[in-house]
Amino acid sequence: MIVLSGGTGTPKLLDGLRKVIPEEDITVVVNTAEDLWVSGNLVTPDIDTVLYLFSGRIDAGKWWGVEGDTFRTHETMRSSGFDEGMMIGDLDRATHIMRSNYLRGGDSLTVATRKLARAFGINAKVFPMSDDPVSTIITTPSGKLHFQDFWIKEHGEPDVLDVSIEGISDAVISPAVLDALEHEDEVLIGPSNPITSIGPILALSGMREILKTKKVIAVSPIIGTEPVSGPAGKLMHARGFEVSSHGTARCYEDVVDVFVIDERDSAKESDFLDIGCDVVRTDTLMRTVDVSVELARRMIGIFETRF
Ligand code: GDP
Repeated sequence: MIVLSGGTGTPKLLDGLRKVIPEEDITVVVNTAEDLWVSGNLVTPDIDTVLYLFSGRIDAGKWWGVEGDTFRTHETMRSSGFDEGMMIGDLDRATHIMRSNYLRGGDSLTVATRKLARAFGINAKVFPMSDDPVSTIITTPSGKLHFQDFWIKEHGEPDVLDVSIEGISDAVISPAVLDALEHEDEVLIGPSNPITSIGPILALSGMREILKTKKVIAVSPIIGTEPVSGPAGKLMHARGFEVSSHGTARCYEDVVDVFVIDERDSAKESDFLDIGCDVVRTDTLMRTVDVSVELARRMIGIFETRF
């Protein structure tokens, strides 16, 4: 199964999935549009979260960074007057240093990620969506901000006028992802931000055309009119999508076969007739691993019975 992922909602579902099917049967295609060079190293927030999840080290309170990490390097730099703009843990930074040295040595991001995954004992296939640099840029009334600056430095507070993905027209789907898509038919779009996490993956040239030929299930990250967490609502609104599960389904309307909404969502199945997908209602609020496992089981059941 191929899973399209950002760095919070989908990793929660991956946590359930890896307990239900063998890890080596899972291929994760990860968003790279939030990647950023910080203090000389490439931080890939979504890839890192997926790597830490599969290696059992994710800080599942925050859904970023390594459980129990310290911040001595970051704090030492800050007390010396150097603000790197993002909290980076010491162990987390070790990952960034290794990745960046692989890249400086000529490896692609795919190869660098594979080396890290192997070193961390991960059997799942974790692939960046592309080896080319891509950045999500948020236009605010006072100018343009990289997504990380908008979300971390500015706490997601500025009004959002637009969201664009810089570099996307020159970026190509990574060869590893293309190969996976050639060999696998089941694609799960996890409950991730449809604009900044899944949006960049779908915006890669040719991706939507490939997905139209696949069995695609998508899980809504929005329950009612609110995202479970994060800035998805503001960003969807800026891109002209209603902040709802229906608005999310519209983001995926040409590729999705089955759309999964939360049992608490007031949307009706008939609301989705214009999308042309089946609607399944279940508990998608993954407050515990048990819910993640149940949701993963449900997804596998849909792949087995619906197609
Ligand atoms: P990011 O890369 O950190 O922005 O993370 P993602 O894009 O992967 O995940 C953020 C999205 O996940 C948000 O829109 C949340 O609403 C959604 N999300 C987080 N936890 C859950 C959950 O337990 N259930 C559902 N359905 N959505 C979730």
